[in-house]
Amino acid sequence: MLAVDTLILGGGLTGLSAAYHLDKQAATTGTLRAGNWLLVEKDARLGGLTRTEVIDGYHFDHTGHWLHLRYPEMKQFVADVMGDAMQQVVRKSRIWSHGALTHFPFQQNLHGLPLAVVHECVQAAIEAALAGAKGELPPVNDFRQFCLQQFGKGITERFMVPYNTKLWGCPPEEITADWCSRFLPKPNLAQIVAGAIGLVDDQAGYNASFIYPRQGGIETFAKAIISKLPAAKVRCNARPLAIDLEQKTATLSDGSVVQWQRLLSSVPLPDLFEVLSPVPEGLRQTIKLLRCTSLRYMNYGIARTGVLDDIQWLYIPEAHYPFYRIGSFSNAVASLAPVGKSSLYVEVAANCTDSDADVKLAVRQFLRDHGWLDTDAQIEVEQVRHIRYGYVVFDRNYFGVRADLLAFLDQAGVASRGRYGGWVYSSMEDAMWEGYRFAQAAVTAS
Ligand SMILES: Cc1cc2nc3c(=O)[nH]c(=O)nc-3n(C[C@H](O)[C@H](O)[C@H](O)COP(=O)(O)OP(=O)(O)OC[C@H]3O[C@@H](n4cnc5c(N)ncnc54)[C@H](O)[C@@H]3O)c2cc1C
Repeated sequence: MLAVDTLILGGGLTGLSAAYHLDKQAATTGTLRAGNWLLVEKDARLGGLTRTEVIDGYHFDHTGHWLHLRYPEMKQFVADVMGDAMQQVVRKSRIWSHGALTHFPFQQNLHGLPLAVVHECVQAAIEAALAGAKGELPPVNDFRQFCLQQFGKGITERFMVPYNTKLWGCPPEEITADWCSRFLPKPNLAQIVAGAIGLVDDQAGYNASFIYPRQGGIETFAKAIISKLPAAKVRCNARPLAIDLEQKTATLSDGSVVQWQRLLSSVPLPDLFEVLSPVPEGLRQTIKLLRCTSLRYMNYGIARTGVLDDIQWLYIPEAHYPFYRIGSFSNAVASLAPVGKSSLYVEVAANCTDSDADVKLAVRQFLRDHGWLDTDAQIEVEQVRHIRYGYVVFDRNYFGVRADLLAFLDQAGVASRGRYGGWVYSSMEDAMWEGYRFAQAAVTAS
């Protein structure tokens, strides 16, 4: 039996960051135990969601993966592993709705929409602001109510409800507004009015600019971290078949048994609980309440330039389109497609039941209608992909269920972290940060 101080399950950014920072801590603090880890990844290749597919010279991430950093420690981490191999990109995103292209975010850039829509949205935003100023606001129970209070009925019905229904795959009455505090720009009335008369503010939101590898897709970043890790401490094509929480052992699919003191898992929570024991029966029932979307998306390689003009991604809220976002990797970073060609992704609405063939027809029609596709022969790559765990759904059970599961794991010595280990709506930086924090805590505890 192999005995390690830390067993890391999952080689996405959470696990990679933990491994990197454990080794760094071991080297800088002399805490040798910290460096005694094993990373186990079920797939043949490390990187998780930050892997890049390369097909005929076209580069495809798992849809847009743009890196935005707020923690100084993470900026340093990226600089340490990437040197100057990252570039900064200024966001250029748009919204296609009501037959018009408008700037992002919708609520702050109404100008360009049909005048009746602009009028309706501004009028309702004024009424919502007046109601708020008078203190006439009832408690908010769901995402629709949140939007009504925050933006008024016009913006809510014209954008927030249709777009979020496609993204989350359920009516906005079923989700809370708790996911959006960091991710949803919330302009005040003055900003809404300014945007309605055409004073464009393109800087709103957390991702007005981002960084990205100059070459090779987002996987270049994952590979840079991997290059710093000793290969002997990484095991791919292996996953736990059974984890005994009392004995602190994991039986792996390659037949080996690993004894651990600490376990960091970024395995999706439902999958982790399938192999854990002992687990109280009540918790096994609780876990069934976790909800998430499964994401269907498509990669496109198109033999021409100017697809989406120079837009990097386009939000498409209206229900009659089966997709909610189309992005161009190569408009953001030219090296992601061969010279003279374009690489794109299309994210299919979670509530869309159309067949793949029908979605492909709709995508081609949409591109043709905008003059972004001349003939079908230009399409060199058109492939459908699935992400089993896509977006965690923040329904009313979410906080209680998640807290119970994580508390149980914590007391058993299991840190379940990352996007699906922690069951959150989070970014690449969040994953790196959690790995970093885990490593810090491990050294403090040693
Ligand atoms: C569609 C989409 C778009 C996104 N866009 C952005 C963006 O633009 N910017 C941004 O910052 N973030 C973005 N994110 C979020 C970002 O991808 C994640 O937060 C981050 O990559 C999560 O890293 P992780 O290590 O927690 O999870 P993952 O990357 O999912 O890694 C988990 C790893 O565990 C492995 N694993 C699973 N089960 C087992 C098992 N039983 N045993 C062993 N290994 C196992 C998996 O194979 C995987 O390698 C996006 C996410 C999605 C889904």
